[in-house]
Amino acid sequence: MPIASVNPATGETLETFEELDAAGIEQRLARAEAAFRTYRTTSFAHRAQLLRRAADLLDEDREAVSRTMTEEMGKPLTAARAEAAKCAKAMRWYAENAEALLADEHPDPADVADAGAARAYVRYRPIGAVLAVMPWNFPFWQVIRFAAPALMAGNVGLLKHASNVPRTAVALEELFVRAGFPEGCFQTLLIGSRAVDGVIRDRRVAAVTLTGSEPAGRAVAATAADEVKKAVLELGGSDPFVVLPSADLDAAVRTAVRARAQNNGQSCIAAKRFIVHADVYEPFTAAFAGAMRALKVGDPMEEATEVGPLASRQGRDDLEELVEDAKKHGARVECGGRRPEGFDAGWFYEPTVLTGITPAMRIHQEETFGPVATVYRAADLDEAVAMANDTPFGLSSNVWTDDPAEQERFVRDIEAGGVFFNGMTASHPALPFGGVKRSGFGRELSGHGIKEFCNVTTVWVA
Ligand code: NAP
Repeated sequence: MPIASVNPATGETLETFEELDAAGIEQRLARAEAAFRTYRTTSFAHRAQLLRRAADLLDEDREAVSRTMTEEMGKPLTAARAEAAKCAKAMRWYAENAEALLADEHPDPADVADAGAARAYVRYRPIGAVLAVMPWNFPFWQVIRFAAPALMAGNVGLLKHASNVPRTAVALEELFVRAGFPEGCFQTLLIGSRAVDGVIRDRRVAAVTLTGSEPAGRAVAATAADEVKKAVLELGGSDPFVVLPSADLDAAVRTAVRARAQNNGQSCIAAKRFIVHADVYEPFTAAFAGAMRALKVGDPMEEATEVGPLASRQGRDDLEELVEDAKKHGARVECGGRRPEGFDAGWFYEPTVLTGITPAMRIHQEETFGPVATVYRAADLDEAVAMANDTPFGLSSNVWTDDPAEQERFVRDIEAGGVFFNGMTASHPALPFGGVKRSGFGRELSGHGIKEFCNVTTVWVA
C-alpha cells in the first residue's frame, strides 16, 4: 500500500508521501540511540513538564488535528475532537502519575534479610527505543496511549503508523518536537509494513508494541521472538454485549447503539455480538434495530453526522462480504445490510443488525470492523456465558445486569481482558487495557502499561 492520505468520504487522494529509504531509516535510528543516551537520565519532573506542554499544544491545535483525522480516516468530526481531548488528558495523567507508578519497590525487611541482603529493592529503568506499529482507527489516541507512558519512563519512541494516516503521523512527531522533547525522542518513520521486520531486528530497537490485526501481530511478534525482544500486542476483538432480564432495557439499547456504531463501527472494543436473554430478546432486538436504522449516515465533517464512511475501500468490501456470506447462509437482516443510496463516491455502509446467526456463517467467528451487529438469543445465564466466550477473541466485554451474583459469575468466567457492567467498554489512563486469546498479550495504560517497557532491576546490597 502506498503511503497516502485519501479522503474516505470521497475517494479523493489528498497527498502522497515518499517512503523513507534505507539511509533515512538509518539516520532516525541513530538519532533515537543518541537521544536515549541522555534522555534516560532526565528527571521525572523534566519529562512531565515536556509532556504537559505537548498536552497544552494539542488542546490549542484540537480543531486542526481533528480535521486532519476526519479527512484521512472518516471518523465524525465530533468524535475526532473527543479523541484529541482524551489524548491531552492521558498525557497529563501520565505527567502527574508516572513517578509514583515507577517508584522504587521495597520488599518486606524480613524477606530482604532472608535473601542475605542489608538492603534490597526494585528500580524500574527505561529500556531504550521502542517501536510502535499503529493502526488508523484512533490515529492519535493509539499513539499517545503508547507514547505518554513510554516517554515518562525515559524511553524514546519510533512510530510506524498505518499507511493511510501519514498526515496524522507527521503531526504527532511535530507535536512532541514543538513541546521541546530533544531531537530523536519521538520520531515518525514513514515506512510500509515490509520495512518493519528490519527495524525490529536493528540492535538499537529494544522492543515493539503493535496495535492492529492478528496477521500483523503474528508477523511482528515472530520477529520480536526471533530477536528475543519484548513485544506487546493489542489485536482485534469481537466483544460480547450481554443483556439479562434485570437490565434497564432503554439504557441498554441506547448504549448498545453507541457501543456498536462508535468510530463508524471500527473500534477494537466496540460491542460486536449482542447476546440477549430470551425473556427480553424481542423488545431489545426491535428497539436496537430501530435505533441503528435511525442513525444519521453522512459526511463526517458535518456536525450532525453519527456514522461516516469506512476508512478504506478494502474495509468496506470485507465487511460487505461478511454480511453477504451471512445472508447466503440464512441470516435475517433487521436493518441495513447494504450500501446506502446517494453515497457512491465514498466507502459507506448502512448500520446493520443481523439475527439468526449460525456457526456456518463466517461472521459468527470473525471480527466485523464496521457498523454491523449480530444478535443472539440465550436461553439462560449459562448459555449467555458460553456464547460470550465462543469467539477466538478476548479483548473486553459488556454485561447488563443488576444482579450481584450474575455480575460475579462474569467476573469469574469471562474470557476477556475486561468486563464492563451496565455501560460500554472505554479506555481510561488509570485502568489497564488489553486482551487474552487472539486479542493479544500485555497491557497498555495504568501502571501495568508503563511497566511493560521497563527493565525491572533488582538491587541487592550486602
Ligand atoms: P493492520 O492492517 O494490522 O495494520 C496495523 C498496523 O500494522 C499498520 O501500521 C500496518 O501498516 C502494520 N502492518 C500490517 N501488516 C504488517 C506486517 N505484516 N508486518 C508489520 N506491520 C504490519 O490493522 P488495521 O486494519 O489498520 O486495524 C484494524 C485492526 O486493528 C482490527 O483488527 C482492530 O480490532 C485492531 N485494533 C486493535 C486495538 C486494540 O487496542 N486491541 C485497537 C485498534 C485496532 P500498513 O498500514 O503500512 O499496512
